[in-house]
Amino acid sequence: MPEQPSEKSLQRMRTFVDRYCEKSGTFKHPVDGITEEVVQGLARYVDELGRPLCPCRFYPDKDEEAKHRTWICACDDMQIYKYCHCLLFVNEEGLPITEYLPKDHEGLAIYGMVKDPTPDKGRALRNQAQQREEERKARPS
Ligand code: SF4
Repeated sequence: MPEQPSEKSLQRMRTFVDRYCEKSGTFKHPVDGITEEVVQGLARYVDELGRPLCPCRFYPDKDEEAKHRTWICACDDMQIYKYCHCLLFVNEEGLPITEYLPKDHEGLAIYGMVKDPTPDKGRALRNQAQQREEERKARPS
């Protein structure tokens, strides 16, 4: 993977992040540099794989993973539970929303209960939670 992502991919991801924050009722992280770090990782994957694979996870086979939509940003966990593992989409204090996660999800163990400040926005795939949990067991990733 190249060190520096292309300007085109960086711009694409920066625009996407701004739009998705608006659409989902979330915020960029208040600490300088966190958003940019994740955007750089997403842009590198756009250059390498043609898709913005989540940069905060390890994949045994990135090309294989990119065939699924599970971890293509905005990933299934974001679109179903409004939870962002990478702190790209957070509440105003910089915490990821955990309110809708299944009880055994790592996000609840790490951050505790974080309420959704804008429950009327986001979670476009909220009706797919059952399929997601089946997939999490069948294809841990
Ligand atoms: S956890 Fe999901 S929403 Fe957050 S950066 Fe990764 S792919 Fe995007």
